[in-house]
Amino acid sequence: MKTSILAVGTELLFGQTVNTNAAFLSDKLNHMGFDVMYHFVVGDNPARLKEKLAEAFSDTDLVILTGGLGPTQDDLTKEMVAEYMGRNMYLDEEVIEQLKGFFEKRGRKMTENNVKQAYLPEGCTPFYNASGTAPGFALSVDGKTAICLPGPPREMMWLWDNGVRAYLEQFMDKKMFYRVIRTIGIGESDLETILMPVIDGQTDPTVATYAKEGECTLRVASQRDTIEEAEAAVREMTERIDALVGDYIYSYDDEDLKDVVVRILKEKGLRITSAESCTGGLFPASITDVAGASDVLSSAYVTYSNESKIKELNVPAEIIDRYGVVSPQVAKAMAEGARVRAGADIAVSVTGYAGPEADPGHEAGEAYIGYAMGDNIGFYEVRTSRNERKWNRNYILLRMLRAVYLLIK
Ligand code: AMP
Ligand code: MG
Repeated sequence: MKTSILAVGTELLFGQTVNTNAAFLSDKLNHMGFDVMYHFVVGDNPARLKEKLAEAFSDTDLVILTGGLGPTQDDLTKEMVAEYMGRNMYLDEEVIEQLKGFFEKRGRKMTENNVKQAYLPEGCTPFYNASGTAPGFALSVDGKTAICLPGPPREMMWLWDNGVRAYLEQFMDKKMFYRVIRTIGIGESDLETILMPVIDGQTDPTVATYAKEGECTLRVASQRDTIEEAEAAVREMTERIDALVGDYIYSYDDEDLKDVVVRILKEKGLRITSAESCTGGLFPASITDVAGASDVLSSAYVTYSNESKIKELNVPAEIIDRYGVVSPQVAKAMAEGARVRAGADIAVSVTGYAGPEADPGHEAGEAYIGYAMGDNIGFYEVRTSRNERKWNRNYILLRMLRAVYLLIK
């Protein structure tokens, strides 16, 4: 079903508020199989609101509006939608009761303008709002449907979960199944080139690639008459993708790499440690982000200076002198030193330049990731060719997680 999102609020045009409602709704609608064709943003101005509503309905059958449902004078969305669709307003007793309860519970007196929120267009399907005061609603007239939701993201999302999603199911004649496949170590354009034979000319399942910080995601989606058919189509496509780029895939279920790493370490009963310079502790920070990390990590090291690498990790001073501190040799010695000191099964290390500066003969974003697992001691070279410190640090962290993943998968 062709769909538009119309966000209402002058603060959105001023750049004071980011239009996160449109991003949230687009994502949810897309996953359900709706075709989101347009995002509109309009200020709190009745004439322009009606104009954009007409434009949205001229090409799409479902328009979801957010914002402008509050009690104040400039909140006009509801009235404009009712007027556009030729409906009068009625006073909804259930909303009145709910509003009374809301204010009583908070020991506050309900002001007269709050009653405005209890008016809804005749013939609508109300979405009562237990997370705030303004209800949402859906109104269908002659095959066109408008859904109005409050602006505050928390309330909008609550109503989506408690009413809107179930309401929209009536429009789904096909069943949608999708899977999000996560890859690392391959760029989006390479991924697309390799997958071209299976992507090209494909209408169902669709395969879409998205790049985000240092990794690429693939979304494989199918819409069929039954969920079983959609699932089978996605499974078959996943197998074809796996045959082409399986080496880069670390999750078929949209998991974060850190979650995958901790899960496998746990399953295999392995303990890990790390030794870092330029990432300053990001590795244990990300591992301990995952619940149950204490089963797999007991200690980790941040060794920023040469002295601390020598003292804490037993890195031989002559290796640093001979090869330089940012080198494969030092990365490997750091990993092995950390593994022995922590008594862990696996260690991962990094020495590098987060940027923007680097020592002569080196560049920002150059790093060596070392690993040690039993006799298996090795390294990866990373060159981001960027001098953005934050980006580099996050990218290097991902590559450390990937180095561990490749050891244990
Ligand atoms: P309203 O329902 O228009 O009174 O909106 C109340 C508040 O919700 C605004 O002050 C914004 O902070 C927030 N808000 C409104 N529209 C959006 C939007 N599209 N995305 C994110 N926040 C919004
Ligand atoms: Mg507003």
